Amino acid sequence: MKVTTMTKIYLVGAGPGDPDLLTVKALRLIQTAETLVYDRLVSREILDLVPDGVSRIYVGKAPGRHTLSQKEISALLVSLAEKGQRVVRLKGGDPFIFGRGGEEALMLARHNIPFEVVPGITAAQACAAYAGIPLTHRGMAQGVRFITGHRKENATLAIDAATLADPEQTLVIYMGLANLPLIVRDLLDAGRAADTPAAIVEHGTTARQRSIVTTVAQLQKAVEQNNIESPAMLIIGAVVALSQELDWFMPVAQEMELRYG
Ligand code: SAH
Repeated sequence: MKVTTMTKIYLVGAGPGDPDLLTVKALRLIQTAETLVYDRLVSREILDLVPDGVSRIYVGKAPGRHTLSQKEISALLVSLAEKGQRVVRLKGGDPFIFGRGGEEALMLARHNIPFEVVPGITAAQACAAYAGIPLTHRGMAQGVRFITGHRKENATLAIDAATLADPEQTLVIYMGLANLPLIVRDLLDAGRAADTPAAIVEHGTTARQRSIVTTVAQLQKAVEQNNIESPAMLIIGAVVALSQELDWFMPVAQEMELRYG
């Protein structure tokens, strides 16, 4: 295989949406790429930072509707590398947290294609920060778990009941909307109190961010009443109650609306 010395694939995390949350390294790479391969969750404001001369390939996956399969995406990266392209593979949040970046990196490693991984701020951290929810807090939460709500049909959450029930563990659930009733059922079955504070953060860190605070038992109703759509993050635990005092984002959202429209 003819991999030139210029060839390198950068697996880059774009963060959750707010372009100010890009790392300096991510920005530098985006601005010097030859080809950008990007996902649905990469925000328009971030794409606006890509210079005109960079060719862009969209491989977005809307829930249940895939443009390219994961295998095809990996194969695309390999073929771009073989052409000697300097490629930025830009993913929402962090590439190695529920981003299938590991699969793409393995494919590159197995083809002896040089690559670098640039971490991004993952949606769990970002949504919590922008909703005024400290994920750990002395006396309230000693730990935090990042969980996926995605599951095979009829499967339960792949987390032990003790963790699900532990009142001092904050749970942050990615991709939780589709299976929300099952998730709530698992939490309650595991023994988590029904009145545990729970937040839904939709379009986190963008001008369109909405954060709704309710309880575990009322989660599904809150999602329906507010017409919550993807992407949204669920945060569960006593710390959610702190957002009442710590919510700082509303005035900033208005500034962002003016800046980015
Ligand atoms: N690699 C990404 C996660 C991809 S999984 C990361 O590290 O953040 C996609 C899920 O992430 C969505 O279903 C949603 O639950 C969550 N998500 C991503 N961006 C989000 C945002 N701006 N606001 C709320 N949730 C978000």
